[in-house]
Amino acid sequence: MTHPSAAPGASYGDFYRRSIDDSEAFWAEQAGFIDWATPPQQILDASHPPFARWFVGGTTNLCHNAVDRHLASRGDQPALICVSTETGSERSYSFRELHAEVQRTAACLLALGVKRSDRVLIYMPMIAEAAFAMLACARIGAVHCVVFGGFASGSLASRIEDAEPTVVFSADAGSRAGKVIAYKPLLDEAIRLSRHKPAAVLLADRGLAPMDLVAGRDHLLRDLAAQHAEAVVPCTWLESTEISYTIYTSGTTGKPKGVQRDTGGYAVALAASMKHIFDGRAGETYFSTSDIGWVVGHSYIVYGPLIAGMATIMYEGLPTQGLDGQPDGGIWWQLVEKYQVTVMFSAPTAVRVLKKQDPALLKKYDLSSLRALFLAGEPLDEPTARWISDGLGVPIIDNYWQTESGWPIITIANGVEKKPSKFGSPGVPMYGWRVKIVHESTGEELTTPGEKGVVVVEGPTPPGFMQTIWRDDARFVNTYWKSIPDRTVYSTFDWGIRDADGYFYILGRTDDVINVAGHRLGTREIEESISGHDNVAEVAVVGVADQLKGQVAMAFVVPRAGNAVTDGDAALKLEGEIMKRVADQLGALARPARVRFVTALPKTRSGKLLRRAIQAVCEQRDPGDLTTIDDPACLQQIQRLVGA
Ligand code: AMP
Repeated sequence: MTHPSAAPGASYGDFYRRSIDDSEAFWAEQAGFIDWATPPQQILDASHPPFARWFVGGTTNLCHNAVDRHLASRGDQPALICVSTETGSERSYSFRELHAEVQRTAACLLALGVKRSDRVLIYMPMIAEAAFAMLACARIGAVHCVVFGGFASGSLASRIEDAEPTVVFSADAGSRAGKVIAYKPLLDEAIRLSRHKPAAVLLADRGLAPMDLVAGRDHLLRDLAAQHAEAVVPCTWLESTEISYTIYTSGTTGKPKGVQRDTGGYAVALAASMKHIFDGRAGETYFSTSDIGWVVGHSYIVYGPLIAGMATIMYEGLPTQGLDGQPDGGIWWQLVEKYQVTVMFSAPTAVRVLKKQDPALLKKYDLSSLRALFLAGEPLDEPTARWISDGLGVPIIDNYWQTESGWPIITIANGVEKKPSKFGSPGVPMYGWRVKIVHESTGEELTTPGEKGVVVVEGPTPPGFMQTIWRDDARFVNTYWKSIPDRTVYSTFDWGIRDADGYFYILGRTDDVINVAGHRLGTREIEESISGHDNVAEVAVVGVADQLKGQVAMAFVVPRAGNAVTDGDAALKLEGEIMKRVADQLGALARPARVRFVTALPKTRSGKLLRRAIQAVCEQRDPGDLTTIDDPACLQQIQRLVGA
């Protein structure tokens, strides 16, 4: 296979058109960016739409492409750089050292009975062992399911139940702002709550919190790894369409969706994006400030940079704390200078936090290695974009994508053509993505610039896009592909418009998903947790605009009859209990910013909760047509409560 390269001065328009008009030839070329044990026999099998199977018949391995492949050419170069400002530690692993660590971890998993296609659930803080665990799973063909370490027992339990892991890989504790968060009790409680019980639990001990080990089930990584110190575990060659991982994300219903990804398509998509979008080159350093619990962490902390032969920084801590534990709003820039970071990836929320720091911190370090800063996960507001752009003096590239897509859908392909960015727009559709804007109720394509509609993707979807929802093809088809009348198109559930130059603008979700500090949460999940409280009759949770976090959750609760919360103290007590309940069950991230008590919730005559009208009132916007509301006084009560 030839190695494609975008000729200097190439037009992105031509590049994009080829990816759509001559899609199989285009992707066959991209497949040349990775190693295959057996080359693909068929580039795309789209015979069962909306399912797309990429590189059929090819066999490969993500771990081989991320680690082993680089041993000959760059074995002693840094591969994984772990920095924790929580524990004041900093350690770098070369590709050769990473290779040894991953094999040790793989040997531990094999010793615990993990077989090809078995699931390993990873519930870990941002430490090297988490990356070893992911790569070890990929190496032996086990499916990893990483659950964000900030989730609490209830969320973890539902994921354990759905994934049915053979082994859970965890640690004694995480740490946030110097506060130790013991993981083991949360994990024990989650396993107790789950109907599925993993055969074994493997635990990294950081010495942060004591652990009670369950005899026969729990194993310390340290002890087991010592037995496999020199382990040689070859990569298992997987069919391109075999599952590499699942990752849970929120949707309209309370039940989280296991987004399932393949092996070969994902590897090719990441390798191609490292070149065409991020313009990252082997031997350089990539710094993504995300977490392995999110898709960005999978694609652009672990796999993408390593596949490209880059060193990747894994960072545990706040953006405002130094390695000595003291406040330091310049820590990220210090790391950029120290490790000569060329590509950085973060979220607008993090930049908004940094914006409160002394701007001189941006000038304190030599940031000349940095070529661009990519921001994703939530809308990038213009003041934030301008502030960081002026401060760093490098392009700020907004990119729009989702857990489902695996890599950017809309951005600027910096490695193909450095097209100008426009404030407020993530850019243009990326190669392979047939992005359209359609009318939400007629399905008609909206081609006039500025017309607002739903952002959808026409099939066949490109490599790297989700294969399906884990064990639920019907839910995949019905949720994502049938929401637009008369059309079989993938709905992103985002509103958007396109301007006359083809740049897209994302205008928020069409469903009940909210985005808190770049993290996606289902309001239904939060509502389910709250409605389990004995004193709660009914609840509506909405996302409300917030200057720092983008959105925060607000809960409107109707207390049970007879338990009416009349005085201030009772209301405060119930609010506290509700907040604690959500934090305990789902995690602090999901805890509502405020709980307000009302006598009734606004509904349509058919009983449908009018979350959008509540949200509009909270944001002091026009709630729209009120004629459908059964009892308009409900909305007026909310209006009074939020002072609108
Ligand atoms: P997640 O699956 O957690 O990555 O969340 C995906 C959702 O985050 C998208 O559907 C959008 O609503 C939002 N999102 C992600 N990136 C952007 C962006 N660059 N601009 C606006 N919204 C974004």
